[in-house]
Amino acid sequence: MAYKCNLSNGQQVYIENQGMQTVVTLSSGGPGQQQQASTGFQTGKWTVVPTLFKTSSGVILRIESKQGQSFVQLQAGGISTISGTPTLSDAEVLSLQQVEATPSKSMPPMEPMKPMEPMKPMEPMKPMEPMKMGDMEMKMNPMQMRMGNMSMEMGSSSSATSGKRFCPQCGAPVQTSDRFCSSCGYQL
Ligand SMILES: [Zn+2]
Repeated sequence: MAYKCNLSNGQQVYIENQGMQTVVTLSSGGPGQQQQASTGFQTGKWTVVPTLFKTSSGVILRIESKQGQSFVQLQAGGISTISGTPTLSDAEVLSLQQVEATPSKSMPPMEPMKPMEPMKPMEPMKPMEPMKMGDMEMKMNPMQMRMGNMSMEMGSSSSATSGKRFCPQCGAPVQTSDRFCSSCGYQL
C-alpha cells in the first residue's frame, strides 16, 4: 500500500511502507521522460497513515510508527530526514491519495536524448573535368609529341627529319632558314 500526493510544482510524491522502511519517491516529468528519485528511511511500521505538510520551507512528510515520529523533508534537490520536530503549526496538510504501489522503477529515468546533429549532406562530387594537359599534343606515326615549345619525335621519321635543326641552346626545332631560335632567340 502506497500513498501519493501531487505537489504544486508538478512533482508527485509516493510514500510506501516496505517492512520497517518508508520509501519516499519523488517523481517528476511526464510519461516518457519521467524522473524518479527514491529514498528509503528506517522508520518502522506505520501506525497511522503518514501526513504530508506544506510549509514555507518545503514539503515535510510525517511518519508515525511504533518507533515514534519521523520527519522527511522533500525538496527539489532530494529527500532527507529532519532531526527534531519541525514547526508545523502554520503548515498546510496535503491530501494523500491511496495507490496500489509506487510506480515501477523498471524503466530507469532516462535523460532525454539530445537530438543528433543532422549530418551535413555531402557536397556532390564535381564531375571530373577532362584532363587538361596544357597544350600537349601527341601524334602517332610518326610518333610526335609536342608540349608547349618542346617537341619530340621518335621512330622511323626521326631519321627522315635529318634536315631539321634544333636550337643548340634550348632544343626547340628551328627552320634551317631561321637565323635565330624562335623559342629562346639564340643566334643560330
Ligand atoms: Zn633556342
